[in-house]
Amino acid sequence: MLFDDRLRDLLSAAQSIAIVGAKDRPGSPVEHVGRYLLEAGYRIFPVHPVRREVWGLPAFRSLGELPASPDVVCLFRAPQYCPEHAREVLTLTRLPLLFWMQEGIRSPEAGQIMADAGVPVVEDMCMETVHRRLFPSSSRCFSCRRCGHCCSGRGGIVVGPRDLLRLADFFRMSAEEFLERHTENMRGKTMLKTGQDGFCAFFSSDSGCTVHVVRPDVCRAWPYFRGNLVDHVSYALAREDCPGISSNCVHPVFAREGFAYLNAHKLLARDSAREGHALVVHEDELPPAPEAPAYTGEYSA
Ligand code: SF4
Ligand code: SF4
Repeated sequence: MLFDDRLRDLLSAAQSIAIVGAKDRPGSPVEHVGRYLLEAGYRIFPVHPVRREVWGLPAFRSLGELPASPDVVCLFRAPQYCPEHAREVLTLTRLPLLFWMQEGIRSPEAGQIMADAGVPVVEDMCMETVHRRLFPSSSRCFSCRRCGHCCSGRGGIVVGPRDLLRLADFFRMSAEEFLERHTENMRGKTMLKTGQDGFCAFFSSDSGCTVHVVRPDVCRAWPYFRGNLVDHVSYALAREDCPGISSNCVHPVFAREGFAYLNAHKLLARDSAREGHALVVHEDELPPAPEAPAYTGEYSA
């Protein structure tokens, strides 16, 4: 059984989810969950043997046809089909971070196949319910549109001590080697290098962040940076640059949501000399919570 901390880490590291059995039939569980996960900012790969399009996205007949290995495989299939999908997962070029069987679906055989391959398994749980519980504020004010704008510019991506270990491990090199190859020192801080195109050296115009699962904390935190949380002018400027920030979200709501996000993902920092100053935030710096509207006794539309 996976504990909340581990699940939170895996779901926050994941970028893409293959939903097997995806269909946009109004009112169906998969319709609810799929649309929620899209809103939450995941890249969704619908998988269905017949449908060519689901939720406005191209659908694929099998996991083997996906353009890239998904970070999570989520099954909306009857239990007897789950082992077959687990075996299919083993043929992917990269194993997923999670193999998820939705609420009401249990398959010890599929679970064993995945466990033998070292893939964490969730059975009989609704991903939307779990995601809402672990990330209570994830979908109100911000949903990344993957435009890549925040990956451009030199000197913004601080590599803190935790980031360094994660990234060096990912590239199977020593911390020293990673520092030498991929970082530069600017204003006394370790930063990721920038490519000739002005984007982070790990950014690809085809596939976005090539180190997404191990990206630095500041990348995980954006747009919930200190300035944007404590200062409404910074927030207004960030909203102009980042299309993922909802234009309907007022600053106090954004600030509280962002603080909760940083807290839930363990992204708050203390040491602004070595970590990103943008991640050093104290709750008492946030603007006052917005007042709840008065109850009028009438339903709103
Ligand atoms: S600028 Fe905003 S929407 Fe675009 S990739 Fe960055 S976080 Fe996502
Ligand atoms: S590490 Fe990834 S998310 Fe961060 S700036 Fe580079 S490409 Fe963008």
